[in-house]
Amino acid sequence: MEPTICLVTVADCLFCRIVVGEIPATVVAETERTLAFRDIAPKAPTHVLVIPKEHYADVATLAVGDAVLAGEVLATVADVAAAEGLDGTGFRVIFNTGASVGQTVFHAHAHVLGGVDMDGDLT
Ligand code: IMP
Repeated sequence: MEPTICLVTVADCLFCRIVVGEIPATVVAETERTLAFRDIAPKAPTHVLVIPKEHYADVATLAVGDAVLAGEVLATVADVAAAEGLDGTGFRVIFNTGASVGQTVFHAHAHVLGGVDMDGDLT
């Protein structure tokens, strides 16, 4: 089956443009409906973004719109963490949701962070 993308928003959305290959990215994992690629400005030794290929503005919208796809994103998060060797040491998953908490790209994405001691630091 062809990957599902939102052609209405692809021209305006940075991550939709990565999905269709208009903007290059270092892809580390891909499924039929999800994509994982390295963050361009990593905040940790491992900093991977996991997205649904279909456009949803944030994780809350994704969860309401397609809960199965939200689960697929989480499964890809787990696969990426294992591939990066983080499943034994631990990793952090962040979904910034809303500009007031720092969301800058309005296409749902999970930050997968690891490889450094984060303790209780929330950033
Ligand atoms: P947000 O602040 O939670 O929306 O996260 C957006 C993330 O996208 C930031 O960590 C950026 O560094 C990252 N980012 C922006 N442009 C690109 C790109 O072209 N490739 C990979 N990551 C990007």
